[in-house]
Amino acid sequence: VRGGSYNRRWNAQVLRGLQELGQIDRRQLSIDQAAGLELPIGDMEEPHNWERVGLVAIDLHEEDFFASVWEPWRLRLMGGSQAALEGVKSLLRPHADVCHILAEAYAPGPAIQERFGLVAEYIQPMRDCGRCPGCRHRNVEPPTDPPPRVPCRWIVDHAAAKGLEALIAAAPTAERLAIVITADPVAEAPAMAVELIRAGVRFFAGVQPKPPVGVAPWWFLDESDVSPGDVPPVPGLVVPAPGEPVSQAWLVASARPPDVDGRPVPIVLLVGNGTLVGARRVPVERLGALQLETAMSTLRLVAG
Ligand SMILES: [Zn+2]
Repeated sequence: VRGGSYNRRWNAQVLRGLQELGQIDRRQLSIDQAAGLELPIGDMEEPHNWERVGLVAIDLHEEDFFASVWEPWRLRLMGGSQAALEGVKSLLRPHADVCHILAEAYAPGPAIQERFGLVAEYIQPMRDCGRCPGCRHRNVEPPTDPPPRVPCRWIVDHAAAKGLEALIAAAPTAERLAIVITADPVAEAPAMAVELIRAGVRFFAGVQPKPPVGVAPWWFLDESDVSPGDVPPVPGLVVPAPGEPVSQAWLVASARPPDVDGRPVPIVLLVGNGTLVGARRVPVERLGALQLETAMSTLRLVAG
């Protein structure tokens, strides 16, 4: 029979039905296998398809197989198709509860439940969407379901080098926060960034590092107005815009993500002379901040 012919589809449906009812097993034969059995294999235009069909049950030969097994099965299948068609037709009615009809259509059947267990409970779309004609008619509000805003709380296996730890220890402004002072932070930042990237700093805000080739394979960049909650969990250098006070949030260790040891990731802030720091607007010179030259020599001294 030709592909697509009515005869062929009918045969395919009968075979498929018998297979589903566990009466036969089927295996597709390759062209080589068919040729090996001396079956005609057709030509390039119309290759023949051969299947090996085996009887696995003897019910097929019982006289009432078609009346007692086949027909109820066929009616059940047709019932499902009929119900699906009714569902689609009901979408056309005014004030149709589209979300309920969709949820019904995607309800997991027994076969899906058996195979996927608990997970199958989550394949149905939500009812009462608040947006379809039925929900609007019933004054159902869309559920408030804000997108997740997950803080940076992933932990990376990347630690600060000794030089950076020494710098942090020498400038005790807040826990694992060093503030470094210079007259012109924007001009000085690139050179400091190069020194810091050698010391394991991998996050730069308000400055673009140009590290020598081979020093660091990757780093993160951000703008000068970054806040501690946006910092990735790696050591960082932040250069706030000139004249901007340093936010109190930088002094709060828990606002920063933790490093591999559970401590806040170390941050170096490079600011201009007289910058005001924290909620009490303390001039930076009155805190345990370091001058840039001292910070750079501390980094170089302990490097390696
Ligand atoms: Zn709805």
